[in-house]
Amino acid sequence: MTAPASYDVRNPATEQIVTTVAMADVGQTDEVVARARRAFDTWRQVAPADRARLLRRFAEQVDAHVEELARLEVANAGHTIGNARWEAGNVRDVLTYYSAAPERLFGRQIPVAGGIDVTFKEPLGVIGVIVPWNFPMPIAGWGFAPALAAGNTVVLKPAELTPLTAIRLGELALEAGIPEGVFTVLPGRGSIVGQRFVEHPDVRKIVFTGSTEVGKAIMAGCAQQVKRVTLELGGKSANVVFADADLEKAAATAPYAVFDNAGQDCCARSRILVQREAYDRFMGLLEPAVKGVRVEDPSLDTAEMGPLISRAQWETVASFVPDDAPVAFRGSAPQGPGFWFPPTVLTPEDPADRAVTEEIFGPVVVVVPFDDEADAVRMANEGQYGLSGSIWTNDLGRALRVSRGIETGNLSVNSHSSVRYSTPFGGFKQSGLGRELGPDALDAFSEVKNVYIATEG
Ligand code: NAP
Ligand code: MG
Repeated sequence: MTAPASYDVRNPATEQIVTTVAMADVGQTDEVVARARRAFDTWRQVAPADRARLLRRFAEQVDAHVEELARLEVANAGHTIGNARWEAGNVRDVLTYYSAAPERLFGRQIPVAGGIDVTFKEPLGVIGVIVPWNFPMPIAGWGFAPALAAGNTVVLKPAELTPLTAIRLGELALEAGIPEGVFTVLPGRGSIVGQRFVEHPDVRKIVFTGSTEVGKAIMAGCAQQVKRVTLELGGKSANVVFADADLEKAAATAPYAVFDNAGQDCCARSRILVQREAYDRFMGLLEPAVKGVRVEDPSLDTAEMGPLISRAQWETVASFVPDDAPVAFRGSAPQGPGFWFPPTVLTPEDPADRAVTEEIFGPVVVVVPFDDEADAVRMANEGQYGLSGSIWTNDLGRALRVSRGIETGNLSVNSHSSVRYSTPFGGFKQSGLGRELGPDALDAFSEVKNVYIATEG
């Protein structure tokens, strides 16, 4: 397949072209992988304290450019400026967190007969990180920061739609003193650059975030070389509201748990399950909360939601809201250019309705009643996904029982948080494979080597 030479990056809030980015072909991809392979020989030898210092310098560079990176993301992805600042700050924080790792990559000493047995955590080599368009900065950082800390080199392919912040992060790494070839950002097509990462024998691991469909193909491709793979895929997470909960707070926060980033969030709580006796009251409280979401020019400090990423994504999302859709109420969105879609609440009666079963990846939520705790757990567990979810109740025992009962990787009780850089993140079932972030992410970027040393002659 021949690669397109360039890609016009469009501002989703205005539909104007922001800039044009050169796209790599297979030959350029191979050159970058070869350079990363050579850089690995020296990067893995850098003294732990020096590698740590370089990662902290990289974090400082990101910190000094948070506003610039955030403005780039507003223009490229239509993220609200508030979110975009958080996202750039998250890259800094993830780098800082994993900068402590090089000096703490402990092995073990295991008691054995006739000698000493020690284990080492060895880096894998070149890591290929493939990033989607919905959170270009954080998802990149969750891959490259622990990978570099563990002594690997990284080649990173941003999504075609959103390459700008990744390209800038690659420049900031060099400015921070990270050696050439250690971290390289390579814009290009998934079917060309991404696929080459999967096929190239010198890329020893793929970190992929994106759709479940592409994730399955990547896993199958990696199997050819028994290549390591971490997958973060789709979701259809439940926000379970029991009648005993603080309903005001549950209703006031529910819109932000699904409409944040215009719903283009794998952790979006896009199914609100409400205990039947509280259903009417909850809906009464939810309506003003949804209508109050500020959907506007994402560069404004007051913006709470921006546009969808592209015309194609708009068409996909709109297909879930046909003319006869069971719309309970909707928020507002600007008119005119841009891929705007108003926050929309649906109340489908049929549990097989595709708005109930499929990931929408847009600002559309379904609200469905349930009868009791067992019913809630059963409904939350329906479908192929299991990424995140929320539980609202003031009964501690119930909160724990339901937390244990829901088959999902990341739950929050009486809140909607999914992601903290210091805690593990990832999916059950077809939402993914492996975990990112937290204290154990280094294990996903190293192999355990066992060495036995005889002490008896
Ligand atoms: P996607 O089509 O799966 O693309 C993700 C990345 O993979 C992009 O960089 C894409 O490149 C690349 N790619 C596409 N085909 C490829 C191939 N054959 N080989 C190698 N790489 C390939 O997903 P998306 O449309 O960007 O993102 C939306 C989806 O991602 C949603 O389903 C969402 O739930 C999921 N997601 C999950 C998480 C999570 O953490 N679990 C996070 C974010 C998104 P191109 O840009 O060239 O297509
Ligand atoms: Mg795609």
